Amino acid sequence: MSVPDIALYDEQTIPQLGLGVYQVPPHETKDVVLRALEIGYRHIDTAQMYQNEQGVGEAIAESGVDRSEIFITSKLNNGHHEPDDARKAFADTLQKLGADYVDLFLIHWPLPTRYNGDFVSTWHVLESFQKAGQAKSIGVSNFQVEHLERILAEAAVMPAVNQIELHPYFSNHYVKQFGEEHGIATEAWSPIAQGEVLDDPTILAIAQNHKKTPAQVVLRWHIEHGNIIFPKSSNAERMKQNFEIFDFSLSPEDIQKIDGLDQAEAGRRGPHPDTFDKIPE
Ligand code: NDP
Repeated sequence: MSVPDIALYDEQTIPQLGLGVYQVPPHETKDVVLRALEIGYRHIDTAQMYQNEQGVGEAIAESGVDRSEIFITSKLNNGHHEPDDARKAFADTLQKLGADYVDLFLIHWPLPTRYNGDFVSTWHVLESFQKAGQAKSIGVSNFQVEHLERILAEAAVMPAVNQIELHPYFSNHYVKQFGEEHGIATEAWSPIAQGEVLDDPTILAIAQNHKKTPAQVVLRWHIEHGNIIFPKSSNAERMKQNFEIFDFSLSPEDIQKIDGLDQAEAGRRGPHPDTFDKIPE
């Protein structure tokens, strides 16, 4: 059972399935990531905000898996958008991960109401990380269409990915479609809506038909839509379950039924990128 690679426009590739470590406590992260690597995960999604980059780095060092075989993503924290701060924070990320480079580095939130709305200067700093070979790919997270349009108009390098909230209750269709039209790959965060979609009768019925769990059905739906996903689990059994989604496929009717669960804006569970302005302490 192997995880497909998705080709990014910048000629890098990314495993379509990984492990997200949001809300994995720092002291548990090393063990959780070690377990994931044993299961076969080769893509870890962390962030400065999660305060667990060090645990990710320790797990990779201990795992015996070659660094070149593991795809690591991290993200710039909201308090570090000023160019000098961004450079310092990125150096700290590399140090905590014990790495010379990350595979992908993202601006975590656009924060249009902070920093005079200037995420373009921050983006230029990410361009310099890529140029120096310290970030193989660079991208953004939670960028709305108008934010992407500004980057495309004003920057030299286009984001390779946009990591956005996306699950059966919230298709985020407009942003995903813009990405498709411009060669920006979509990464879907909270792919199972933190578990909220798992009791849905439509999903339960499809799961029963395929003799799969609701989580496997929802993750497979993402795979069939070409989304890059990294469900979070700290539990070895669920991590394994989430990894075993390449031995079945959904019918076009199944996919259509799950598509039909979209609640448009009402389905959004996380903060709205136009107004989110939280800077963690
Ligand atoms: P997910 O949709 O991945 O759901 C995680 C929750 O579902 C956890 O409570 C987990 O519990 C549970 N779960 C996982 N697998 C199963 C399963 N098979 N059956 C039942 N329950 C399960 O939510 P996240 O918000 O964590 O999103 C995934 C990743 O996306 C994050 O870890 C992070 O990397 C990224 N992210 C990025 C954001 C951004 O702004 N860029 C925002 C939010 C997330 P348990 O651990 O006990 O299994």
